[in-house]
Amino acid sequence: MANRATEEIISEVKDLFRNYLKEKKHRITPERFMVLEEIYRSDGHFDADEIYFKMKDNKSRVSRATVYNTLDLLVDCGLVQRQQFGKNQSVYERAYSFQQHDHIICQHCEAVVEFCDPRIHEIQQMMEKLHGFKINDHSLHFYGDCKNPDTCERKKEMKIKKMTKLTMN
Ligand SMILES: [Zn+2]
Ligand SMILES: [Zn+2]
Repeated sequence: MANRATEEIISEVKDLFRNYLKEKKHRITPERFMVLEEIYRSDGHFDADEIYFKMKDNKSRVSRATVYNTLDLLVDCGLVQRQQFGKNQSVYERAYSFQQHDHIICQHCEAVVEFCDPRIHEIQQMMEKLHGFKINDHSLHFYGDCKNPDTCERKKEMKIKKMTKLTMN
């Protein structure tokens, strides 16, 4: 959830990633660590191209293909979480040492709110007992309208269209 990664966390995730790459016999390249750092130094959710263009803006020479395949590796080793909000392409967020959270997604402007409620953990424990499962992970997205006309651009556009229609008639 929204708060910056400390240097300590960044060095921990780098160690974890290095061990993972070694274990899986993937190449250990500085570019892969740049992608990891970019994600851990940013807040929130981004798609792969947003990460790529952000790095490019910062004069990084990391290729688009490297960003994409590094993201796959980071998801595979559990350091980054892949989320699907609505019909859009996948977005990514940090997963290590950040509070487990769920999402509320606006279907008009794609605003995303993160929330954390301990009752979800209680449901998980109850379901484990009830169904004899060991639950490792979960994903919960609520979809709806954000009801904020100022931040909800799509709605604002619709309102303006409606108003111009009315004045034209
Ligand atoms: Zn999130
Ligand atoms: Zn909205």
